[in-house]
Amino acid sequence: MISDLCKQLDSSPTANHLVEHWSRILTDRGFNEFAHGAPVGARGFVRVGGALIAWTNTDDFERRGIRIVGAHTDSPGLHIKHNPFTEIYNMQQIGVEIYGGPLLNSWLDRDLGIAGVVYDRAGRSTLVRTERAVARIPQLAIHLDRDVNERGLQLDKQQHIHPIWTTDKSMKSFDSFLASEFSIDKNNVAAWSCQLFDIQKAELFGYRNEFLASARLDNQVSCWAAMNALVDNEGTEPSLVALFDHEEVGSESTTGAAGPLLETILERIALASGSDRAGFLAGLANSHCISADNAHAIHPNYPDRHDQSHAPFINNGIAIKTNSNQRYATSAKSSIPVYAAADSAKVNIQHFSSKNTMPCGSTIGPITATRLGIETVDIGLPQLAMHSIREMCGSEDPISLYGLLKQYFAR
Ligand code: ZN
Repeated sequence: MISDLCKQLDSSPTANHLVEHWSRILTDRGFNEFAHGAPVGARGFVRVGGALIAWTNTDDFERRGIRIVGAHTDSPGLHIKHNPFTEIYNMQQIGVEIYGGPLLNSWLDRDLGIAGVVYDRAGRSTLVRTERAVARIPQLAIHLDRDVNERGLQLDKQQHIHPIWTTDKSMKSFDSFLASEFSIDKNNVAAWSCQLFDIQKAELFGYRNEFLASARLDNQVSCWAAMNALVDNEGTEPSLVALFDHEEVGSESTTGAAGPLLETILERIALASGSDRAGFLAGLANSHCISADNAHAIHPNYPDRHDQSHAPFINNGIAIKTNSNQRYATSAKSSIPVYAAADSAKVNIQHFSSKNTMPCGSTIGPITATRLGIETVDIGLPQLAMHSIREMCGSEDPISLYGLLKQYFAR
C-alpha cells in the first residue's frame, strides 16, 4: 500500500497535479464530477484549481450531518515569476518567488524540474511537468565561504536562490520554453503558473525500510490517507474529504480553507438532500471535522525543541494536536471520535503540544471550525524535516492514518 502513496507523491509535483490524480481515481470509482457552482448529487466531487472536495452518502444531511476530513494540497517551494529569464555571466537564470516557508538550504544542489498549468486563450488548462532536471541552485563552494559550517548558511532570498538553467541564448521567453518543451502552440499560450520541484522520487529507507523520504509529505500524506479512506468507504455513513490549497500561505484564497468553497458545497449537498436553510444549519450542527496535517516528531538531535511529554514518535501511531490558545481546533469533546476510530482501527494515539517557549504552528482546523462552526479536531502523523524539499516520515504511519480515517467514516 505504501507504494501507492509513493506513486501519488511522484505524480503530484503541484497541487493541481494532485487534484488531477485523485479526480481520475474518483471517476474510476463511480464518483460524479460536478461543476463548481452547479447543483450536486449525494456522491461526487468538485475540483477548482488546486482544491478538491469529494463526498458520499449525503442524502440525509439535515438529520445525520456529515463527517469531514480536511487536508491541504500545497507545499512550500519556489514558484516561477512572470518574466523569469535573466542572462548573466554567459548563463540564464530563472527568477523565482518563495511560496510559503520552505527550508531554503534544502533546495540547494538538487535536481529541479518544472511543473505547472498552462492556459490557452479559451481558458482550457493543460498540466505540464518535465520528466528531467532542467535547473539547479548550486551552493557556494566552501573555499569561497570558509566559515559556513560554524556561522550557519545565510541565504539572501532575492540574490541567492535563483536557479541556473541554460547557456542557450536563443531561449528568450518562458512561453517559448513551454511551447518547445511540451509541444504546445506558442501563440496559444495565454497564461501559466509554474513551479520548481525535486525530480528525485519517493523512496523507503532504513535498515528495515522503516522510513519514507519524499518531497511534499506535508501534506500530501494526509490527502492520500483521507481520499483512500473515502473511496474505500463501503458503508452508508455521510462522509466528505476537503483538500484545500494555499494552507502554507494562510488559507485566504478562493480555494483555501478560509474561502467559501466548502461552505458553498455543503449548502449544495444540503439542498440536494431536500433541506432548506434551516436544515442546512441543523446539518452543520450535526457534523464533525478532522483536520489532518503532519505533526513534528521528536528529533533525536534536537530533543530540547520539544515538550518531551508531548513529542510524538515515528511509527508509533497518530498524534492528536492540542493548543489551548486555539492554534489547533482540538477540544476534549471534539477528540472523542478520534479515540473511537483509533480503537476500531487498532491505531495508537499520541499527543502533540508545542513547547511553551516555541511558537505553535497552525493549520486548516481552526479556520474551518471558525468559518462553519463545526466541531473540529486536529490530528497528524509525525514527521521530521518539515518544509524541507525532502521530508521524512515513518513507513507505517501513513497506513495507520488511513486505517483511522476509514474507521472514522465508518463510525
Ligand atoms: Zn501542513
